Amino acid sequence: FRKVQPSSTELVEGILEANITALSRAITLVESTNVNHLAKANEVINACLPHANKSVRIGITGVPGVGKSTFIEAFGKHLTGLGKKVAVLAVDPSSTISHGSILGDKTRMEELVKDKNAYIRPSASGETLGGVARKTRETITLCEACGFDTIIIETVGVGQSETAVHSMVDFFLLLKISGAGDELQGIKRGIMEMADAIVINKADGDNIKKAQFAKVEFNRALHLFPAKKSGWTPTTSTCSAITLEGIPEVWETIKKFLELTKGNNSLFEKRKEQNQYWMLETINEQIKLNFYTHPEIQKLLDSTKKAVHNDEISPFAAANLLLKTYFKK
Ligand code: GDP
Repeated sequence: FRKVQPSSTELVEGILEANITALSRAITLVESTNVNHLAKANEVINACLPHANKSVRIGITGVPGVGKSTFIEAFGKHLTGLGKKVAVLAVDPSSTISHGSILGDKTRMEELVKDKNAYIRPSASGETLGGVARKTRETITLCEACGFDTIIIETVGVGQSETAVHSMVDFFLLLKISGAGDELQGIKRGIMEMADAIVINKADGDNIKKAQFAKVEFNRALHLFPAKKSGWTPTTSTCSAITLEGIPEVWETIKKFLELTKGNNSLFEKRKEQNQYWMLETINEQIKLNFYTHPEIQKLLDSTKKAVHNDEISPFAAANLLLKTYFKK
């Protein structure tokens, strides 16, 4: 793979032989914004698809400082210790603005990065969250074809990124820390509703009691949500990513979840629904991009915006005008 441009067949062969260099290069191809790379990226993805789908996909979200990278390092090491092959990916909406990602930063997971059964890939940068999420979705396929059986996708609980990650994973884990007794304050209802498990981190030292109290409170709050389609009842637990207390139990919980959802087939049903969702998302994303980069729209957009600003035309009439121009009706 020292070749400048390996062919798509060479990349696929490398991936199926668990060659990490081939995997990294294929991910770079998928992440490329160069339109000439699109066809080749699609060839690689399509060839990998029959070899994908066999892993467990775990989403992890939590605000900055909650201990995501420390937790993923501890949890990832536990999994590789059990003989698993772990890929860590990230969806980071801030990377779309700053073009630099904090998540999935290799220096944050020093031990895991040295582990030959782990692969850490920072978040793709991109113009939109939808674009970043699509690339991550395709990267999952490549990692699975490369033999990774556990995929961890990290995201910060801001904006819509947790919704995007929830739509690409089997199991969604919300990482929290205990506060001063007002645990539920400031937490978005939507995030809690998505969670399959709430894990309260930093349950060590003086913090143990508070963490246990938080666990009870979260547990009570979780019962107020309607039952999940999968039949799974979300769990709450405490852990410490430093002392490793409670880390193995998180995996035991996920194992129980897999047993249940494979047994009642809801796991694969959910994946099929997710695939349809990503098809529609991709269409929306492409149409939007195509619309705003259309030469005639670019010519008209500013003046039409000004006309709306000056109350010369209603927003709806203005939108219709532009859409008519785009669709040439
Ligand atoms: P992230 O921003 O969510 O990825 O959080 P980090 O993993 O970078 O952790 C933020 C800080 O919390 C760091 O100083 C960690 O050492 C510390 N930390 C993480 N997990 C634990 C834990 O379980 N116990 C304690 N006491 N500190 C922790």
